[in-house]
Amino acid sequence: MSSKKSAGTIAGRKQASAPFQLPFLRSVSRQEAARNRARWHRFLSYYKPHLPLLGAVLCCAVLVSLTALALPLIANQIVSRLPDLAGSPDAVGQLLALGGVLLAIFAVQALATYFVDYRGHVMGARIEAQVRSELFEHCQKLSFSFYDRQRTGQLMSRITNDSLWLGELFHHGPEDLAISLLKFTGALAVLIWIDPLVAVVIVGLLPFAMGYALYFNNRMNKALRTSKERIAGVNERVEDALGGIRVVQSFANEEDEKARFDTENAKFLRSRAEGYRSEAMLWSGMDAFAQLVTIVVIVFGAIRILGGEMDAAGLLTLLLCVGVLLDPLKRFDNFIRLWQEGYTGFVRAMELLEEQPDIADRPHARPLDAVTGAIGFENVGFRYEADGPKVLEGVSLSIRPGEFVALVGPSGVGKSTLCSLIPRFYDVDAGKVTLDGQDVRDVTLATLRRHVGVVQQDVYLFSGTVAENLRYGRADATMDEIMAAAHAANAHDFIMALPNGYHTDIGQRGVKLSGGQKQRLTIARAFLKNPAILIFDEATSALDNESERAIQQSLLSLAKGRTTLVIAHRLSTIRHADRILVLTRDGIVEEGTHDALMAKAGVYADLHSLQGRL
Ligand code: ADP
Repeated sequence: MSSKKSAGTIAGRKQASAPFQLPFLRSVSRQEAARNRARWHRFLSYYKPHLPLLGAVLCCAVLVSLTALALPLIANQIVSRLPDLAGSPDAVGQLLALGGVLLAIFAVQALATYFVDYRGHVMGARIEAQVRSELFEHCQKLSFSFYDRQRTGQLMSRITNDSLWLGELFHHGPEDLAISLLKFTGALAVLIWIDPLVAVVIVGLLPFAMGYALYFNNRMNKALRTSKERIAGVNERVEDALGGIRVVQSFANEEDEKARFDTENAKFLRSRAEGYRSEAMLWSGMDAFAQLVTIVVIVFGAIRILGGEMDAAGLLTLLLCVGVLLDPLKRFDNFIRLWQEGYTGFVRAMELLEEQPDIADRPHARPLDAVTGAIGFENVGFRYEADGPKVLEGVSLSIRPGEFVALVGPSGVGKSTLCSLIPRFYDVDAGKVTLDGQDVRDVTLATLRRHVGVVQQDVYLFSGTVAENLRYGRADATMDEIMAAAHAANAHDFIMALPNGYHTDIGQRGVKLSGGQKQRLTIARAFLKNPAILIFDEATSALDNESERAIQQSLLSLAKGRTTLVIAHRLSTIRHADRILVLTRDGIVEEGTHDALMAKAGVYADLHSLQGRL
């Protein structure tokens, strides 16, 4: 039985917050803690294929930190040696040599920074691409019921926008942490060495700066999270309005669409403004803190020089050290931000990856080899949502191999639903559906669907050429086979009349083709697939007589030698069906040939007189 989900989208769920808070500040259930741990392991596992590169980046980060610390130390050497050098004949030579050493150190620093920046970012981008690819692959596997609940715009946002920050986090995370830690401890050691008292004063100020930074970081984080949800909302509007642009324009609803878009856009803008406010407060506060520390060092240093406890070289070193000491603060802050941005994106990505397809192979599912095409429904019950209304109840039905069966009945009684249970687009809630006597849930999905061809009324063609779209039926089909399929589907002539024949680009979703032409292409696609069972959902939209006849002819030739189930909207389509099933809210109420059902003068005959034509 499929695990029906109660309504609710991933996007609508409460966001998991980045676990940067200390654990005791937030009570987490054991289950949530286990899930966080698993996510954390998964986060680290993405580094595995890149360990050598990560090692090289970290080594370069160490070099960057050490060379940064070298400046105050060498400056200290130069200034404190000045009195001794004053009388020496090669004083300038020695100073130039020290300058040379400084230059060499900076050359190393520049190279290391380049490596960290370039290769580190590439590593981050590779991991990001990996996550994005996993997301896409996973989305391909998720079931129809998942897409019934989800909004494509929101999903697109997850796969594209959210993962952008992941690369930054994967890159800057280890590097920023290493550089911050090394620079901070190194600069602190130098400060203590020069003047422990000033060091104590500076360290005493640090908690205030940290508290300030964390507070505004938190606010920024909240705004960022809101922004992410809002941009997903904007994406959703764009997707909806542009995807349905023909409907929008035909109803002249451009202004309404613009108003709806503007609402989402304004919400996004507000969340961005809030984010920027906190960001500005954060950075201006950090700059002010740096100035404050510099002033403290100058004043304290001057007092200590007056008292003879420090010399000018000491003060210069202290001032240079302050820069090195404060850089980690900024970096650390940046890291927290990246963490929050990237990790919320990571959590959103993981939520999607953790979503299990409702329809999957059972552990001992067998591949389905050649089939004769016998279909059975045994006491089948189905509903779309756990708490939704029953769509099918106690439906039993048996279709012989090669039989041509038509399903008719009022709209909304479950004809499409019944057909969608055969290729397991959804799973039954009660009873079973069988193919050649085997429960469809006991065979592998891939082989089951290989034997079932579906021609939906809601024709979906991909952007690309006619030939590419037809080849979707069978990837290795030759051009001759493609043309034979098009002939059989009565599509060859109109394809040849297109500007580039089979190589004509048909535009997104085949917008450059008529409804009848699109349907004939999907029939040709089904010819190429050559399934044992064919489900044909006839187009409800009115087709011109010629198209209708062409489609009917191609359907009849496609149906030859296969079990065919047609959901018929035009009763003319099914006059020659072996059996007609009449489905109403009470289930299958009548069955038989056209003539038998007409003679019965029941529901079918009523439907027939309602359509008033044959
Ligand atoms: P028919 O093909 O006979 O017109 P359907 O099988 O499409 O009927 O629909 C049967 C019922 O199931 C309808 O009430 C419809 O609203 C509902 N339904 C169809 N598809 C879904 C879905 N994806 N999620 C929820 N309800 C659905």
